[in-house]
Amino acid sequence: MGKIILTGDRPTGRLHVGHYVGSLKRRVELQNTGEFDDIFIMIADAQALTDNADNPEKVRQNIIEVALDYLACGLEPEKSTLFIQSQIPELCELSFYYMNLVTVSRLQRNPTVKTEIQMRNFEASIPVGFFTYPISQAADITAFKATTVPVGEDQLPMLEQTKEIVRKFNSVYGETLVEPEILLPDNEACQRLPGTDGKAKMSKSLNNCIYLSDEPDSVKQKVFSMFTDPTHIRVEDPGKLEGNTVFTYLDAFCRPEYFEEFLPDYKNLDELKEHYKRGGLGDMKVKRFLNSVLQAELEPIRKRRKEYQKNIPYVYEILKKGSEKAESVAAETLREVKGAMKINYF
Ligand code: ATP
Ligand code: MG
Repeated sequence: MGKIILTGDRPTGRLHVGHYVGSLKRRVELQNTGEFDDIFIMIADAQALTDNADNPEKVRQNIIEVALDYLACGLEPEKSTLFIQSQIPELCELSFYYMNLVTVSRLQRNPTVKTEIQMRNFEASIPVGFFTYPISQAADITAFKATTVPVGEDQLPMLEQTKEIVRKFNSVYGETLVEPEILLPDNEACQRLPGTDGKAKMSKSLNNCIYLSDEPDSVKQKVFSMFTDPTHIRVEDPGKLEGNTVFTYLDAFCRPEYFEEFLPDYKNLDELKEHYKRGGLGDMKVKRFLNSVLQAELEPIRKRRKEYQKNIPYVYEILKKGSEKAESVAAETLREVKGAMKINYF
C-alpha cells in the first residue's frame, strides 16, 4: 500500500506563519523527499461555508489567496495535487454514509469543536453543518486513502474521530478504508503557534496573525508590538521565557545560521535565552533579531507569491486540473465504499 498525504486549509483568509510552521513547511519538505506516492492539498471551501454561510464571497475570494500562499511556499503542482473541496461531490456522499456511524454525543465531546463553538458564539444555535464538520473531514481524509495527515495540534481530535469512523466502517462493512496517522511538527513551538497577542493560537478568526504575504513594514510593526514578559521592565531585570511569545517565535523560526548573520554576539538560541533569564538583555534587541529572522524566512515566499499573482488564470488552471484528478480518486473510493455497503444495485 502506498504512502499518501491529505491535508488542507479553510479559505477564510490568507495563510499565516502559524499555518506555515504547523503544516505548510512540513508539506513542502515531504513533497520534496519524493517518498509519497501522492500528495493531496485541499482548499476546504465547503468546510469554510459551515461557519460562513452568509458570506460566500469571502470564501470564494480567499480560495485564490490560499492557492497563492501554497505556491509561494513551494508546493508544486507537478508533485502535489492542489484542489478545491466543493468540486468533489463524492465527499458529500461519503459524509452522508459516515454520519450513520457517529453519535451526536460523540461530536459534542470533540474538544476542538467545543472551543470553536465558543469562539464563534454558536452556543445557542450551532449550524448542523458546522457541528458535523469532523465527519466531513473524515470523508476528505479517507476519500484519498490518506496514510499521513500533516497538521497542527488542534487537529488531533479530528484525526481521532476519523480513525473511529474508519474502524467502525471496516468492522461493519468489511476492510475498506485506510486508517490515517497524524503528523505533528517535531518542534513543540510549531504545533500551536500563539498569536502576536500572546493568545493560545494564531488564528485568522482571532485577528492576531502575521500573514505570509504581509509587507516587511507590517511584519516589523507586529513583531515590535508583541507580548513578552510583563515583569521584565528594565534591561537588567531577569526575564522569563514561559509565555514569552517572542521567544516562542524564535523557537519556531530561528535557524543557527541567523546568529552569524544578524546577532553574532551569540552562538545560538540557548545562549540568548540564558542571557535573557540572567538579566541584561533588553526586549528590543530580541525583537529586532526576531524581525530579521522573520524577514529572512518570509522574503522568498513574498517574492514567489508576487510572481504567481501576475498570472491568476494559471493558478485557477492548476486548481482545475488538481480538482479533476482528486475527483477521479474520490470516485473510485466511493465505488468501493458503496460496494462494501452493498448499495451498488445496478
Ligand atoms: P480559522 O480561524 O478559519 O479556523 P485557522 O487559522 O485556524 O483558521 P485552519 O484553516 O483551521 O486555520 O487550519 C489549517 C491548518 O493549519 C491546520 O492543519 C491547523 O492545525 C494549522 N494551524 C492553524 N493555526 C495554527 C497555529 N497557530 N499553529 C500551528 N498550526 C496551525
Ligand atoms: Mg481552524
